[in-house]
Amino acid sequence: MKIEWSISEKELLQQIGNCAAQVGVQAYVVGGFVRDKLLQGKSKDMDIMCLGSGIQLAETVKATCFPHAFLTVYKNFGTALLKTSDFEIEFVGARKESYRTDSRKPIVEEGTLKDDLSRRDFTINALAVAINPNQFGEFIDLFNGVSDLENKIIRTPLEPSTTFSDDPLRMLRAVRFATRLHFKIDPETFEAIRKNAHRIAIISQERITDELNKIIATVQPSKGFKWLDESGLLQLIFPEFVKLKGAEYIDGRGHKDNFYHTLQVLDNICTSTNDLWLRWAAILHDIAKPATKRYDPAIGWTFHGHEVVGARMVNQLFKRLKLPLDEKLRFVQKMVFLHLRPISLTKDNITDSAIRRLLFEAGEHVEDLMLLCEADITSKNRQKVIRYLENFELVKSRMKAVEEKDHLRNWQPPVSGELIMSTFGIPPSKVVGLIKDEIREQILDGKIGNTPEEAIALMHQLGQLHGLNPVLKNH
Ligand code: ATP
Ligand code: MG
Repeated sequence: MKIEWSISEKELLQQIGNCAAQVGVQAYVVGGFVRDKLLQGKSKDMDIMCLGSGIQLAETVKATCFPHAFLTVYKNFGTALLKTSDFEIEFVGARKESYRTDSRKPIVEEGTLKDDLSRRDFTINALAVAINPNQFGEFIDLFNGVSDLENKIIRTPLEPSTTFSDDPLRMLRAVRFATRLHFKIDPETFEAIRKNAHRIAIISQERITDELNKIIATVQPSKGFKWLDESGLLQLIFPEFVKLKGAEYIDGRGHKDNFYHTLQVLDNICTSTNDLWLRWAAILHDIAKPATKRYDPAIGWTFHGHEVVGARMVNQLFKRLKLPLDEKLRFVQKMVFLHLRPISLTKDNITDSAIRRLLFEAGEHVEDLMLLCEADITSKNRQKVIRYLENFELVKSRMKAVEEKDHLRNWQPPVSGELIMSTFGIPPSKVVGLIKDEIREQILDGKIGNTPEEAIALMHQLGQLHGLNPVLKNH
C-alpha cells in the first residue's frame, strides 16, 4: 500500500521524521489522518505516535521547524498539540492501556507499536505509516484495516466485547464512523455493542452528547439513529426519542409511527441545512406527541398542544443532555413551538394578518421555520403530500408579498413603553403594557398601518380612553 501525500503533507511528515531521527525515536503518522487519506478525504488533524516521548518529539519539531507555532503540552496525558498554520498535530508516545471494570480511566504504560495499534478503536483507525528517513512511507496494517476500508466495515482490532467494555464511548464512535463514512458495522462488533450498551453509563454526558452531535452532523443521520436504536444505546441515552416509536390502532384507525417520521424529517432537513440546531429542532419537533396523544372516536388520534409541551420538553432535554442553555436552546424551542403554524394556514385563513403574526413571531428565524415545515411533509399518501406542498408554496409567496409591503422582519412595534410613559408622564405600570400591546395588535391585524405616525396617533387615542393626558413639554 502506498499513499499519495500532497507536497505539503510529505514535506511536513519528512520534517517530523527527521526530528524523530534526531531524538532517536521511531515515529509514525496514525489514525484518522491515514484513514481519511486512503478514503481520498482531507484532514487537518494529524496524529503522530512515536516509540518514546511524544512531548519531547513535539518540542523538537517546534524548535527545529515551527518556532512560531503554538505548542500545548498535556503532561498528565503525555501528549502535546502543535498548531501550525495548516495543521493541528497531536504527538503521543506509544502506549499500552489496561482497564478496570469500574472505571473508564485506564492504567497507561509505555508500549510497543503493536500495543499502541491494538488499543485503538477500529481496524480502519489502527493504520500507521512510518516517517523516519530510513523507512519513510512504510505502511503498517496489523489488523487488516485496509481490507476493512475497502469493504466498508467497522470492526475492532481486538475482541470487540473487551474493546467496548474497556471504553464504552467506542460504541458511539462505531456508530458515528459507520454513519459518516457510509460503512457497515461488522455483525460480531455490533453484537458486542448490544451486549455492552449498558456500560455507556460510565461515560460523561458531555462526551456522549459530543458523539451524538457528530452523528447528527452527517449527511444521513437516520442511519446512525437506527443503529443506536437497534443496539439499545438510544434507549439509554435518549429514551424520549424511543418513546416516539410505534403506531397504535383503535377501531382500525392508526397514527403514523413518529419515530420513523422524525428520522425522515431529520434526513430531509439535512439536505437543506448544515445547522446543527435546526437539525436538533427536526429531531425534537414532535417529541411531545407521546405525552399528548389522545383518541377521540369522532376525529381519531390527536396530539393537541404537542408543540407547547414539546417546547417545554426541549428545555429539560437540553439540560440533561448538557446542550447549550443559551440562544441555541431558545431557537430550538421557538422552532418546536411554531412548527405547525405555516402549514396550519389553510387557503381560507391565509389572511394578511395571519401572515403578519407568523412573520412577527418567527422574526429573524422565519426561513429556518419554513425549512423545518417543508421537511415535516412526509406522508405516504402522494396526494396529501402534493396538497400540503401546494399550500406551503402559497403560504411562502404570501409571506413574501406581506413582507415586501409591511417590512415586518425583525420588527419592533414603533411605540415603546418609554415613549408612552414620557408622553403621559406616568411611571411603569400596567396601563403602559396595555397600550403597547394594543398598538402592536392593531398593526398586526392591519387595522392601522405600520408607521410611527399612525402608531403615535393611536397611542393618544388609547391614552384618552384610559383617562391619561399628554404632559406639555417645554422646548
Ligand atoms: P475524526 O478526528 O475525524 O473524528 P479520528 O479517527 O481522527 O476521527 P480522533 O478522535 O481524532 O478520531 O482520534 C484519533 C485516533 O485516536 C483515532 O483514529 C483512533 O486511532 C484513536 N482513538 C481515538 N479515540 C479512541 C478511543 N476512544 N478508543 C480507542 N482509540 C481511539
Ligand atoms: Mg482526529
